[in-house]
Parts: sequence; structure tokens; C-alpha cells
Amino acid sequence: MWMVIRRKVLFRGLCLWGTLMLGLTALAYFRSPPAAETAAAYRPETVYIIDPGHGGEDGGAVAADGTVESGVNLAIALRLREVLRFCGCPCVMTREEDVSIYSPGCETLRQKKASDLKNRVALVNGQEGAILVSVHQNCLPSVPTVHGAQVFYNRAEGAETLAQSVQETLNQAANPEKGKAPARISDTIYLTKNVTAPAVLIECGFLSNPQETKKLKTADYQRTLAAAMAAGLLRVAGEGSP
Ligand SMILES: [Zn+2]
Repeated sequence: MWMVIRRKVLFRGLCLWGTLMLGLTALAYFRSPPAAETAAAYRPETVYIIDPGHGGEDGGAVAADGTVESGVNLAIALRLREVLRFCGCPCVMTREEDVSIYSPGCETLRQKKASDLKNRVALVNGQEGAILVSVHQNCLPSVPTVHGAQVFYNRAEGAETLAQSVQETLNQAANPEKGKAPARISDTIYLTKNVTAPAVLIECGFLSNPQETKKLKTADYQRTLAAAMAAGLLRVAGEGSP
């Protein structure tokens, strides 16, 4: 019994220590502006809406080993919230469990998916000062060697700057051998097209790549990705834009 309690205390201590280290890593990337600039640029109303893509009946992409995208998205998104909260940033999650957030009355999968996305849009558009960070995993089964993290951005003002910053920190953390460039997101993506806030959609890695899938499932790599994302986001906030 005591052994169990002691183990629990030790485990909690390790978790806290991990969070502290992650936060410090993110803060190390964060360039503080001079005091005068801070006063003008400080935007206390910025709220990060963290969106783990898919959920519930909509699992998203599925790896060859059966790993489902929605679960990986949620694990990374929760770790991102942990780091951002540690840095004092208000965060809202679109979902915190393996669920789809459709409204009552939907019957078909298609109706549920449409309602879910509509509700995610409403959540973002109803939040003043929102910045949307949507977390996804990529999949390209025709080229299983393709790997790495890439950031996409919507047409809202400030989104491209955010994407460039997050891509830069992700290139250091996840694409060390060859960096990727951020790209404008297609207007066929309902969520990022319909939100008025600056939005970045982060494809953390490829579930079509077995080695990368293995990595994406580890707590260590999820923490690395979360810290890099937070660092990229906070650098832009420190510069007073968007
Ligand atoms: Zn996805």
C-alpha cells in the first residue's frame, strides 16, 4: 500500500518536473521584447484554442499498425495545453476526450461530422482574441518514406507569421535533416476556412511512415512536439502580432 502511494507521489513528482522542463524549454525560445514595446504590444486577451483533429466515430487517418489519428492528435494537444498553461497562456480545448462534438439530432456519420465542424467553428468565432491551433497527423501511403512536421495557415491576418514561427521551431525539433516550409491551407478545409481567427493547422508527422508512427506514440516525442509548437506560438506573441 505505502509502496503504491510512494510510487504515485514519485510519479506525480516526475510529471511536475517534466512539465517544468517543458515550460522552461518553451520559454527559452521566447524572445522578450523591451519594456516599452511590451506595454504597447501586450495583448492579454489572446486565447489559444487547441483543437485535436477528429474524435469519436471520426478517427481520421489510420496507420498500418492500427494507430488512429484522433488519439495521437489528442495526446499531443493535451501536452501543448500543459506547456502553454505553464507559460501563463489561457487555453480552450475543442475536445478533451475521444469524442465528436456534434449537436443532438444527428444520425448519419456525415451529419455528425458536419455538425462537429460547425460547433468547432462556433467555439472559435465566439472567443474574442482567439488563435486556433489545430493538431493533426498526415498520411501518404503511396510514399511511406515521407515524414516530418508541416504547418498550414489560413487567410486571417497574422496566421502566416504564426505558421512561419511554429514551422521554424518544429524544423529544429522534428525535421532536423531537412526543414519544411509552411503552406497556405486549402479552402476545402471547412474549419480553417470558416474561422475568423488566425489559424494554424499542424500536421505533426506521417502515420503512413511506420518509424514516424512509432515515434509519434511516445510521450517523449509528443512532449518535444508540444514544446516546439508552444515556443513558436509564444515567440510571435512576444513580438506583438498578430
Ligand atoms: Zn486529420
